[in-house]
Amino acid sequence: MKLAVIRLGHRTERDKRITTHCALVARALGAEQIVLCGEKDDKIVEGVEKVARQWGGKFYITYSPSYRTTLRKFKKQKYRLVHATMYGEPIQQVAKKIRKEKKIAIVVGAEKVPREVYDESDYNVSVTSQPHSEVAALAIILHELQDGRELDKKFPKAKIKITPQTRGKKVSKRN
Ligand code: SAM
Repeated sequence: MKLAVIRLGHRTERDKRITTHCALVARALGAEQIVLCGEKDDKIVEGVEKVARQWGGKFYITYSPSYRTTLRKFKKQKYRLVHATMYGEPIQQVAKKIRKEKKIAIVVGAEKVPREVYDESDYNVSVTSQPHSEVAALAIILHELQDGRELDKKFPKAKIKITPQTRGKKVSKRN
């Protein structure tokens, strides 16, 4: 399953940390790329690219000024759009069906999400019907769609690698 994330409506001042966390969660939990829509924010792109270089694996972060063009591009590339929204169908009820899709783009909002995103999306899914965070929603949707396999994902050619310890920290670095 190819996984992408589309972040709608990024606001440079208000969303910088949350959008960065969406990108880091997307990368760490199995997505191959994230596209940032909304305000252009080179700092976030550069910061996430640096993490991807240091921690290994393949991950791409790009910016697109138009969410409409982005949604259309992914649909043209045969991605199914999975829009995260508290108004949608419970992820635990639809995950099994969505897992059969070969290419999935998970759409998360920031500011008010335009109605057309709900209409354009192949699936509108909720992580509970409570208002919370795009970061948490993204993490759980990635987990449900990969049935937990993302937790064992490998990140080849990492310059920084952690070896899990019961206590303390074990970090290996290479150039
Ligand atoms: N203020 C915006 C509005 O009213 O549309 C939404 C703010 S909300 C924190 C930002 C994003 O988090 C939403 O667009 C959605 O993608 C995600 N989100 C928040 N709660 C969610 C839930 N229960 N299930 C799925 N996604 C959720």
